[in-house]
Amino acid sequence: MSLTVVGSIAFDAVHTPFGEREKMLGGSAVHFSLASSFFTEVRVVGPVGDDFAQTEFDVLENRGIITDDIERVAGAQTFFWKGHYEFDLNTAHTDDTQLNVFGDFEPKLSEQSKSSDMLFLANIQPDLQRQVRAQCGDISFAGLDTMNLWIDIAKDSLLAAMSEVDCVLINDAEIRQLTGESNLARAAKAVMELGPSAVIAKQGEYGAALFTPGGFFALPGFPLEDVRDPTGAGDSFAGGFLGYLDGECDRIDENALRMAMGYGTVLASYNVEEFGTERVARLTRDEIDSRLEALRSMTAFDGG
Ligand code: AMP
Repeated sequence: MSLTVVGSIAFDAVHTPFGEREKMLGGSAVHFSLASSFFTEVRVVGPVGDDFAQTEFDVLENRGIITDDIERVAGAQTFFWKGHYEFDLNTAHTDDTQLNVFGDFEPKLSEQSKSSDMLFLANIQPDLQRQVRAQCGDISFAGLDTMNLWIDIAKDSLLAAMSEVDCVLINDAEIRQLTGESNLARAAKAVMELGPSAVIAKQGEYGAALFTPGGFFALPGFPLEDVRDPTGAGDSFAGGFLGYLDGECDRIDENALRMAMGYGTVLASYNVEEFGTERVARLTRDEIDSRLEALRSMTAFDGG
């Protein structure tokens, strides 16, 4: 099985109450691909500038991620995002966004990337998400993530992009903003009416809720005593979620989606323990599975 992701490949400057980094590897496609690489073959699509060195490629390639469709744009700089978090780590505040190489990027996917089994349209300008979706006609399952910036400045394109995927992953504040519904169940229903058969509302440290036409499931965030940098938590969740669905289950049904929620929760929890990609880059599959078991025992209950 194989999974293609398009999204930002970035340098991030991040300040949290627990430390800061001036320039670290980040981007929605980077966090997603690292997380999903534990489950399946992953191909990343996106542009980088001259400042993106072999050291950065190594972080991806050491996890077996296929970087052939990362386009190097001569004379340009990599996408840059600067943000900070206050004492409440649940909300990212954007201080600067420099699209750089994304300014006039036109995705051109290789035949292998086009013919992957699954596709993830990670957070990036929704017209780019649509261009990639159009090139991957035969994929069996497509997911999409976004952020408030695109709801503010490109809402129509975003709604069109959502109508072309099977699953939307989105923050709870953003799904309320997008739909104008304050109730999460109604907001999820409004997104499903666009076309997707599953909607995941991400709720930061409080976890994530899955809505499908016939069901509901939710998991808390894995309880951690040390959270240093939440950047990329949503992308890591999506990577664990889609990576598991693509690599380790035969059929996407309600049970598979619940397992995928478990893996998403676990990958997100490791991601936030350290800055940027630091923790997930050296994570092991055993660590993932033992935290999944811990999460399972924390969330199981019966009346016996
Ligand atoms: P998350 O914390 O999972 O929502 O995603 C954080 C990542 O999103 C960071 O590594 C940023 O580089 C990336 N990011 C921030 N703003 C944007 C944007 N406007 N488009 C694409 N990626 C972005």
